[in-house]
Amino acid sequence: MRNLFFRRNVFFSVLSGIFVLCLMAGLCFAKTFALNKEDAMFKKIHWLGHAAFRIDAEKVIYLDPFKIKDGAKKADLILITHGHSDHLSPEDIVKIATGQTKFIAPPSCAKKLSGNVTPITRGQKINVDGFEIQAVPAYNIGKNFHPESSDNVGYVLTVEGARVYHAGDTDVIPEMKEIDADIALLPCGGTYTMTGGEAAQAAKLINPKIVVPMHWGSIIGSKKDAETMKDLLSSSYDVRIMGRE
Ligand SMILES: [Zn+2]
Repeated sequence: MRNLFFRRNVFFSVLSGIFVLCLMAGLCFAKTFALNKEDAMFKKIHWLGHAAFRIDAEKVIYLDPFKIKDGAKKADLILITHGHSDHLSPEDIVKIATGQTKFIAPPSCAKKLSGNVTPITRGQKINVDGFEIQAVPAYNIGKNFHPESSDNVGYVLTVEGARVYHAGDTDVIPEMKEIDADIALLPCGGTYTMTGGEAAQAAKLINPKIVVPMHWGSIIGSKKDAETMKDLLSSSYDVRIMGRE
């Protein structure tokens, strides 16, 4: 009898041991393979060259569509940062817009768009189709391409729990300290925007989990600018130079 009791005890101990081991292995597996929110969002972001991005979330969101290929996915939402032709490009918008597409743009650009257009100004936060969209300042310091007095913006979008900052055309500006972003898309091509070195300073102000250099390789700037930015940040930031799609 005692022997049977002992055996049963051993049996249950072994069984519970196996259960605990499986549980621990399962937790390790989940921790290793589950993506955090910024990595999950990064996989949905496509760089289309220059400052143009498409985010394939529940809705298809384009930012500053430019040099869009024929047959590109249609847009549910198009966000425009400012009126320069490499950011507000009617010939590209026509390729992706449908009658249902919603546009978000600063007032001076909203006037040039037709359809479902919502003007947005710096500091304003709106909700469109469940996405929080915040317009933030974007301007040059010491050069006049993008004056502070203009209504140019950058955007912080909250998509599926991740905060994506598209800086627009800007220099390093003090307002960047206030930006809370998981992923920062920062111009680094110089001349009209930040250089690689300046974009590295901007990343340090913003402190995002993932940094993506943009505004290079098309009109201005080269991969070298993106690499300069990456080298300057490599010890402490996750800088990802994206391939153009
Ligand atoms: Zn511009």
